[in-house]
Amino acid sequence: MKRIFLKTLLAGAAMSLIGLAPLAQAQDKGPIAISMPTKSSARWIADGNNMVKYFKEKGYKTDLQYADDDIPNQLAQIENMVTKGSKVLVIAAIDGTTLSDVLQKAADKGVKVIAYDRLIKGSKNVDYYATFDNFQVGVLQAGYIEQALKLKEGKGPYNIELFGGSPDDNNAFFFYNGAMSVLKPYIDSGKLVVRSKQLGMDKVSTLRWDGAVAQARMDNLLSAYYTKDRVDAVLSPYDGLSIGIISSLKGVGYGSAQQPMPVVTGQDAEVPSVKSILRKEQTATVFKDTRELAKVTVNMVDAMLVGKTPEVNDTKTYNNGVKVVPSYLLKPVSVDASNWKQALVDSGYYKESQIK
Ligand code: BGC
Repeated sequence: MKRIFLKTLLAGAAMSLIGLAPLAQAQDKGPIAISMPTKSSARWIADGNNMVKYFKEKGYKTDLQYADDDIPNQLAQIENMVTKGSKVLVIAAIDGTTLSDVLQKAADKGVKVIAYDRLIKGSKNVDYYATFDNFQVGVLQAGYIEQALKLKEGKGPYNIELFGGSPDDNNAFFFYNGAMSVLKPYIDSGKLVVRSKQLGMDKVSTLRWDGAVAQARMDNLLSAYYTKDRVDAVLSPYDGLSIGIISSLKGVGYGSAQQPMPVVTGQDAEVPSVKSILRKEQTATVFKDTRELAKVTVNMVDAMLVGKTPEVNDTKTYNNGVKVVPSYLLKPVSVDASNWKQALVDSGYYKESQIK
């Protein structure tokens, strides 16, 4: 320890002697504030941990906080982060429309803001957006249903029910619209039938992405519309909802040889859902590598703080109502029983022992 300290001191002194500022030592830059929505879903825990790790590698201190899916809690945490002198706020918002005041306070102090995975709406004080191609997530989910039911080959008609994400999360609309870009033509032609007639985010959304809410809605759909008919597919935008939907389906006998599970989609490749896929309950999920998102974000922050322009690959799609936020979109990947190992284990995202 002592020797390292001495070395560091000497290196610093040498730099000063030759007229350069000492190099930033590990952990003395920042702090960078990371505000995550909830620990109730494993993906956000991974997002937080990955960012802390990559920031640390670049010598930044971090202040990571989770808000228990409670909007006032997240606001208070962010306000506190600004007061404590954070240089940058990285925020995955619970409700993307509630942050304007606190972000104005941050901007007044010169604090930069990155919207992480979820767009922050209604504020000019959002510098960049790091996310996945959210429309494509919906296309992958619906494309999976299209393929599994062989709709392109003209099969059908099949019954489908639709679930949407939280209406205060901009992503939920992108997922839904992406999915509908594939499903709508089949619904219009009658190859897919939504017996409940519940279409549109105003009818199918699930506040706070709550699995219990999805389960209750699925219970209602099954008892109101499917006592005689079978449901062949359920569009679910998130693994946590899929788990609720599947419990409901199992409750009325789906998942047996006589009454096989419908096609059920998902998102995030969370461990319980990958296990469910291997048990042939959930059919597919969409994997979004949170390591990559964390890396993109850390690079954006680092670039901003050293006066460079962060790399973006989309300057059109994400209008937050006040401005188009320059974005970096990563590619989501569809995962099912055929490619889970390659996508999730070979890539080092999970250990095989976590799944099997
Ligand atoms: C994220 C999804 C996640 C959902 C629920 C969305 O904003 O993009 O990956 O499934 O929130 O946490």
